[in-house]
Amino acid sequence: MEIALVGAGAAAVGLLDALATTSLARVRPGLITVFEPSPHLWRGRPYGPDLDTVLVNAPPAIMSIRHGDPGHYAAWLGESGAAHLDDLLGQPLVPRHRYGDYLAATAEAALRTLRANGWRTRIARARVTGVERRGDRLAVVAADGGRYAADQVALCVGGGEPRDLYSLAAAPGYVHEPYPLARTLAPIPADARVAVLGSGLTAVDVVVSLAARGHTGPITMLSRSGLLPHVWQRPSGHRPAHVTAERVATAHREHGTVPLGHLIGLLRAELAEAGEDFDAFAADLLAAGTEDPVRRLRRQLRSVGDPRIGRRVLQETAHTVGPYAWRLLPESGRARLRRHFRLATSVASPMVPVNAATLLRLLDAGRLTLVPDVRAVEATGGGFAVTAGDSAIHVDAVVNAVNPPPQAVPRAAGELVASLVSGGLAAFHPAGGVVPADPRVQVAGDLAGGGPFITSGIPGIAAQAARTADAMLTLARDESSEAPATLR
Ligand SMILES: Cc1cc2nc3c(=O)[nH]c(=O)nc-3n(C[C@H](O)[C@H](O)[C@H](O)COP(=O)(O)OP(=O)(O)OC[C@H]3O[C@@H](n4cnc5c(N)ncnc54)[C@H](O)[C@@H]3O)c2cc1C
Repeated sequence: MEIALVGAGAAAVGLLDALATTSLARVRPGLITVFEPSPHLWRGRPYGPDLDTVLVNAPPAIMSIRHGDPGHYAAWLGESGAAHLDDLLGQPLVPRHRYGDYLAATAEAALRTLRANGWRTRIARARVTGVERRGDRLAVVAADGGRYAADQVALCVGGGEPRDLYSLAAAPGYVHEPYPLARTLAPIPADARVAVLGSGLTAVDVVVSLAARGHTGPITMLSRSGLLPHVWQRPSGHRPAHVTAERVATAHREHGTVPLGHLIGLLRAELAEAGEDFDAFAADLLAAGTEDPVRRLRRQLRSVGDPRIGRRVLQETAHTVGPYAWRLLPESGRARLRRHFRLATSVASPMVPVNAATLLRLLDAGRLTLVPDVRAVEATGGGFAVTAGDSAIHVDAVVNAVNPPPQAVPRAAGELVASLVSGGLAAFHPAGGVVPADPRVQVAGDLAGGGPFITSGIPGIAAQAARTADAMLTLARDESSEAPATLR
């Protein structure tokens, strides 16, 4: 059995960990090859070396890469977490590069376990450009032309890159890919007028890091919606009893589908049991579209310790139960949720309180401005002209923080995906992303077609990695039981 994992980010780590910790009984040990061209193995786009101000954006319980073991990351962090305590959240929030250390440690441990079980493992520092059929086997093709035999291939290539909405790629002073901020922010003079394109989590990273570098010039966050991410609340220890995968599975078994109304009913029951009013909760969420974002931010910061569970349940289950429920939703429910994409993203991917406090401090000091309704950004030769609503502003530098839509094909995997699709091994999903068209191919991570309309967080990635490992081992077991006795 030869297994190829393409990409070595969080999804590949979750997959290797699941392979190593699942029972390998009845699977003949073979060879696992991991393909990754980046020098920062196991870290993917988010968790490579960068500034200490670039933090993970979720508490430890939902940063575990081991599905079913929410304490796995916290256990690794151990006492070292105390040095990174977010006082408002009461939880450690480490720099993302430190979380990358956790991913690397988990991957290395998994490889050791696999080797102890008789597997051979190797890392190929190469970008994969294709997968070919070779008789009844597959061959993975690397960018240098190398070919590697494989019986199963898992794509763990991540999501897309930032979008250049205003065609500024060639303009001096424009930063297209903001990470690593340690490199991209360095050339920006401290007194420059800086516009950050976007108002999501990446934009928050940029603003907070500019401030930490001592930036004195005015900073403007530009977006169409003007919506900021919501703010995490202190974990309360509440475990959802209604919004659970089991309850969703039961509904699916009983009715053959899980309409959006049913999911809303589960949340309503969850809140009712805690004595909370669902309608008031929903009205507050929907008000995000019209409420002044600075006022809302201030209110959210004040309610970090609010004991009500509504937002906590939604934020947690969006990443744990959400990806599973999404696949069972009728199209009408999906379309309804997609219409609330910005709001859903701002709720499901909140910012950490320490960053929210920095933003508010900058806003109150007049050093940061939020500008909604952006219509155009043009390079003027030596700067940029921004048209927003009826006004125009001029800035010296523009940092792009516009993230790709979920299920976008990353540039580095473009040729690979084209090769899989043209070879009939995978297909594009009508709603975006890629789905396998052959049992020997798996897709894990954001590229997986039919996945949720919001970008996956670690819990979604971990759950999918565990399912992928399960599917790969099941196929391997089936094949070894069919193999001639002499091969067993
Ligand atoms: C900036 C950012 C910050 C995030 N922060 C958080 C967070 O704090 N908490 C949270 O829960 N979620 C966060 N997420 C969401 C999620 O955790 C990450 O997106 C996660 O890294 C996804 O893992 P992945 O393995 O699917 O993709 P990636 O981590 O992007 O890894 C994909 C890997 O595949 C490689 N690759 C691509 N194409 C090829 C090819 N053709 N051949 C070989 N290798 C290839 C790439 O080089 C890369 O290393 C964040 C996402 C981003 C973008």
